[in-house]
Amino acid sequence: MDLSKHAFFEGKIVPLADAKINIATHGFLYGTAVFGGIRGYWNEEKKRLFVFRPYDHYRRLLHSAHMMAMSTSYDEESLIELTLEVLRADNYQQDVYMRPTFYKSDLGIGVRLHDLKDEFCLFTMPYEKYVKNDTNAHVTISSWRRIDDNMIPARGKVAGAYANSALIKTDANRAGFDEALVLDQNGHISEGSAMNVFMIRDGVVITPPVTDNILEGITRKSAIELLRNEMGLQVVERSIDRTEVSIADEFFMTGTAAQIMAVTKVDHRPIGRGEMGPITAKLRDLYDGVLRAKNPKYAHWNVAV
Ligand code: PMP
Repeated sequence: MDLSKHAFFEGKIVPLADAKINIATHGFLYGTAVFGGIRGYWNEEKKRLFVFRPYDHYRRLLHSAHMMAMSTSYDEESLIELTLEVLRADNYQQDVYMRPTFYKSDLGIGVRLHDLKDEFCLFTMPYEKYVKNDTNAHVTISSWRRIDDNMIPARGKVAGAYANSALIKTDANRAGFDEALVLDQNGHISEGSAMNVFMIRDGVVITPPVTDNILEGITRKSAIELLRNEMGLQVVERSIDRTEVSIADEFFMTGTAAQIMAVTKVDHRPIGRGEMGPITAKLRDLYDGVLRAKNPKYAHWNVAV
């Protein structure tokens, strides 16, 4: 995998090869780290790189850190500034991905969150496409359940919780599916392995509420705004039952990495006509323009490097 040349580690920008943690680090031993996943898009006409909604990403990261009893002197603005510096060090002229992480940095064993030091680090990488098939994905209902907010903060991006996502993704891929839909403890569809979900029934867009153990996705939030404000659609946040998926007219999944992925089949049953529907197609177009800083109305979501 192609990675950045520079990273932010222990308070300064260093060559990525020097950004190394000790094997006795708490965050590594117990998954006591929280992270973000942010993307930057190269705009060829403007010859500039734009980071997409970094304020929202860092706000969520700071919330995740707070839930894991971490303390930091960074705020959203200082984290954005630092991120731009790291990106400038690599002088990118292409799409990029950023991975900021707060982690419990003490060395040694002892399962707890309190009385431990917290560190921030960041690396970046060139990044094009995450999912191979984002126009007619075939998904399955995972036999795994989504982590519950009473087990590990589901609305936080906690590193240890991604063992759940990894099990979901690997089993779905090995069974021949592109992705999986994951039920929560109540049997409602909560999300995918690392994507939020939306379905369309009779012209109404429906997505699970933030109280159904979902990660509060930035792409989800952006899609809701575009569907309401640019496409004039009603968006309802309510629980989704598994049998609703195959009778939906359209279904799509959202995430920073995957962007907006059209789902056209669930467990071998076609969704709608078994091809990408018109609402999903229009939203994908709109979203692409917004991401690449080509839509002046949403310029406040694009931070120039
Ligand atoms: N759910 C999970 C578990 C995720 O890891 C992600 C990716 N961050 C998402 C949903 C989508 O969130 P976002 O749109 O903010 O990337």
